[in-house]
Amino acid sequence: MEITGGCLCGAVRYSSTAAPIVTRVCWCRLCQFIGAGSATVNVCFPSASFTVTGTLSDYSCTADSGNVMHRRFCPVCGTPMFSEAEARPHLIFVRAGTLDDPEIARPSTTIWTSQAPSWACMDPALPKIEAQPPPAG
Ligand SMILES: [Zn+2]
Ligand SMILES: [Zn+2]
Repeated sequence: MEITGGCLCGAVRYSSTAAPIVTRVCWCRLCQFIGAGSATVNVCFPSASFTVTGTLSDYSCTADSGNVMHRRFCPVCGTPMFSEAEARPHLIFVRAGTLDDPEIARPSTTIWTSQAPSWACMDPALPKIEAQPPPAG
């Protein structure tokens, strides 16, 4: 199998030969910046089977979870692409909107609900976790 995607302008492309491990909706405060006021939807893949072409910019900071995170985005069109935790280099989290087929990104959980604004739209069918969930793998 191959799952592919890329940024809005096409300068960055990626592919995964592995299926997603987990997909989550994240309402942490930082994701509200990246998600333009909404949550982000993040699809976790094993980084060993993941290939990226093109140049990315990297914004590194410490997340509420305490993890040092790298947020990678396309420097041409600004599309948020990936996040990676230094403590878990075997995983890469892909912003679901960049998938060629976003249908495959159906989330299983909503996380960091404690930081969501009162008007946030959340799927009532999904389990909610108030803060950081256990590691994906
Ligand atoms: Zn781009
Ligand atoms: Zn988040």
